[in-house]
Amino acid sequence: MNNRLYGKLIFECSRQGRKAYSLPPSEIATHTLPGQMRRQTDAQLPECDETTVVRHYTNHSANNFGVNNGFYPLGSCTMKYNPAIDEETAAMKGFADLHPMQPDDTCQGALEAYYRLQKALAAIAGLSEFTLNPFAGAHGELTGLMIIRAYHEERGDTKRTKVIVPDSAHGTNPASAAVCGLEVVEVKSREDGCVDVDDLRRLLDDSVAAMMMTNPNTLGLFERDIPEIARLVHQCGALMYYDGANLNPLLGACRPGDMGFDVMHINLHKTFATPHGGGGPGSGPVGVRAGLEHLLPTPRVVFDGTAYHMERTGEGIHVGAFLGNFAVILRALTYILSLGREHIRMVGPLATLNANYIKESLKDVYRLPIDRLCKHEFVFDGLADKSTGVTTMDVAKRLLDYGYHAPTIYFPLLFHESLMIEPTETESIDTLDDFISVMRHIAEEAKTDPETVKSAPHTTPIGRVDDVLAARQPVLTYRQLKNAEGL
Ligand SMILES: *Cc1c(COP(=O)(O)O)cnc(C)c1O
Repeated sequence: MNNRLYGKLIFECSRQGRKAYSLPPSEIATHTLPGQMRRQTDAQLPECDETTVVRHYTNHSANNFGVNNGFYPLGSCTMKYNPAIDEETAAMKGFADLHPMQPDDTCQGALEAYYRLQKALAAIAGLSEFTLNPFAGAHGELTGLMIIRAYHEERGDTKRTKVIVPDSAHGTNPASAAVCGLEVVEVKSREDGCVDVDDLRRLLDDSVAAMMMTNPNTLGLFERDIPEIARLVHQCGALMYYDGANLNPLLGACRPGDMGFDVMHINLHKTFATPHGGGGPGSGPVGVRAGLEHLLPTPRVVFDGTAYHMERTGEGIHVGAFLGNFAVILRALTYILSLGREHIRMVGPLATLNANYIKESLKDVYRLPIDRLCKHEFVFDGLADKSTGVTTMDVAKRLLDYGYHAPTIYFPLLFHESLMIEPTETESIDTLDDFISVMRHIAEEAKTDPETVKSAPHTTPIGRVDDVLAARQPVLTYRQLKNAEGL
């Protein structure tokens, strides 16, 4: 893409007097702002013709890498293919053109879709009821912890201020607990990567509000001691919180409610369709076991046997205006209904099979610190042979040259050279085999031609960036040149 528009900002494409629009005359009366509220000079907006605008943004979009372009094995993020039918439903005019304040009797279909997803998630999770209000996984965590706090307060038990979080947890867990005003206490992992139950026992007392867990945990390992952990946590009066951001491996295998969890969130934008690179859009529904339903936030959708209603109460927890991220909710419902009970059962087992297939095919050339059956993802600790100094960062950058998105790197923090791979169930054996051969090839290059790997990527529009400098001295604004006519 060696043309004059490439790599420029839209401001730099600007030429005085060019435009790409002509607005119809306004049908409503115009009002003039008082003089002191009006700007003295024109805003410096880019002036471009339509062709330039279209090419500019199309070229930028072509630089993006998504699941639609290629394999995206980003651990802990479940970047799987989202069927196009989910997008079609979300874009249907009857849904897309709704107004959030519309009377219930004019949008029964939308309310029914909402209600059915609430019920479907409850069935999948083995819990009693769900709210679809939270806008992301972390927002769901905060909502869930607010529910847990309300539960303790309702019983007059106000001394419970601590949340126990495993050291392998996703960073949002301690962050959400802190935002909720609770104190974070870390429980260690054992050598085998699972929660150290003896360490946990030591931490449990009547100041603990909840234990947050991810299962399979961040290492992709199934926490086998959950029945015992749940028993201990409940015995001390605290509740069990399940981080279900990555519910993918559990689909068809087991349900958090049956394992003893009281409250959980699900990331619709990981497990149940919706492309979610680059920070959105998201949805983090929260479910509770029987007995906690009254603490769920409102508004929510209820069914009285003949019609659906949006139930709003002034009391209790509120985490957002209206009902949440409706288009994401529609995609999730479409995804669940189009797979159906029979096929949704295959998601977890196939995601698990794919992850183990890659792990077993690469563990002789990449270091596998915990060699056991994994679930949907697993973590290597860099190359097995580190003698040439090639790091996980170098491997990740070299993968870009071969057309793959990099796996998650340097997370979890339990190992120095973490390389976390999650293939998901939507990849074919051919894609997995190609990826395996490229990973093996890079391991070979690391021995025979380490400089090429260390200086990768070589084929991307921008080479290796100085990410430390970018983090320390970020340039967040664009200084407009006077009379910028970049071309
Ligand atoms: C992605 C993720 C989250 C946070 O979800 P967001 O929607 O990004 O806020 C929480 N926990 C785990 C385990 C995750 O993978």
